[in-house]
Amino acid sequence: MKLILVGPPGSGKGTQADMISRHYKIPHISTGDILRENIKNETALGKLAKEYVESGRLVPDELIIRLMRKRLKAPDCRNGFLLDGFPRTVDQAKELEKLEKIDMVFSLEVSDDEVVRRISRRLICRKCGASYHLDFKPPKKEGICDKCGGELYQRDDDKEEVVKKRLEVYREQTEPLLRFYDEKHILHRINGEQPIEKVFKDIQEIIEV
Ligand code: AMP
Repeated sequence: MKLILVGPPGSGKGTQADMISRHYKIPHISTGDILRENIKNETALGKLAKEYVESGRLVPDELIIRLMRKRLKAPDCRNGFLLDGFPRTVDQAKELEKLEKIDMVFSLEVSDDEVVRRISRRLICRKCGASYHLDFKPPKKEGICDKCGGELYQRDDDKEEVVKKRLEVYREQTEPLLRFYDEKHILHRINGEQPIEKVFKDIQEIIEV
């Protein structure tokens, strides 16, 4: 099963991707997580991507495509995968088409006001990347990841000005993607403003039809 999750920052993509990946036993591939890991480790890719990620702009397509071409060849992708944050432009989608046949695309729909409200209260684990929300999904122990005990922090690109830029980029460059997949009849729009479990249930119902 080859799936894609699309949605603005703060739409719950990461949380849903984790749930889908665990439930259906397919790897969760997040280009944002891969880029942040490379930035943290100061790799060549990280150095090239840093400026873009920190300002909320998209990393150039060539870099992302090269990265994904390699990642999708890994043995764990043989039985399917869930892509989170890729593709983000129609050009990336066209490149992906040359590599893989995608079964379903889920778009998590959340308004701009809700995005800003959610992201300002979001915390991420420095060690494993798990995400929390101080109101909706608080960690059991303040500042500590439930899953791995790592330290929780606010992503640099979750600051209000950068979030606004990321939203603008999403509406301009990523929304045309939805039309692209809609024309192929594999797009499913999901109301992302529902409780986490209900969003997951809606996705599950579509997968299991
Ligand atoms: P995310 O964690 O998915 O919100 O991604 C964080 C940042 O990584 C984005 O704001 C972009 O700068 C960069 N990024 C992640 N995925 C992509 C992609 N597919 N194409 C271009 N840039 C990306």
